[in-house]
Amino acid sequence: MSLTKVDIDVLVAGAGPVGLATACELLRHGVRCRIIDKAAEPVQTSRALGIQARSLEVFENMGVIDRVLAAGTKAKGVTIAIASSCVSVCNTFKRKIASIPFC
Ligand SMILES: Cc1cc2nc3c(=O)[nH]c(=O)nc-3n(C[C@H](O)[C@H](O)[C@H](O)COP(=O)(O)OP(=O)(O)OC[C@H]3O[C@@H](n4cnc5c(N)ncnc54)[C@H](O)[C@@H]3O)c2cc1C
Repeated sequence: MSLTKVDIDVLVAGAGPVGLATACELLRHGVRCRIIDKAAEPVQTSRALGIQARSLEVFENMGVIDRVLAAGTKAKGVTIAIASSCVSVCNTFKRKIASIPFC
């Protein structure tokens, strides 16, 4: 693919979750795009262990929420540990802070 030929409608700068999701939405609506990133390679550590409630609302707007929920596991709580020592436990997510009925 030529880097000088302009054959796209939108250039997406950044291949993080926002850039990738934006590119997916553009393609879904028939808009040609290219993603560029200043990093030479992807990060090697996890940035997406859990999906936050607001992200689920965005997935709902995109019309993919049912597939996302079916592929995931609902979190019932969280334990935070530092060097194997537990520093915080939240074993229920009871507050409804988004339209998705858990968070
Ligand atoms: C250790 C860790 C764990 C995390 N765990 C979770 C989690 O479990 N669940 C969750 O929801 N969130 C988690 N997060 C937060 C999540 O990673 C961020 O909210 C998310 O990555 C933000 O996405 P983004 O696309 O806005 O930015 P980024 O992920 O930072 O991506 C931006 C991209 O743009 C590129 N870029 C920047 N400037 C330019 C430029 N000028 N030109 C081209 N490219 C450029 C960067 O190289 C980068 O690849 C975690 C974060 C960290 C650090």
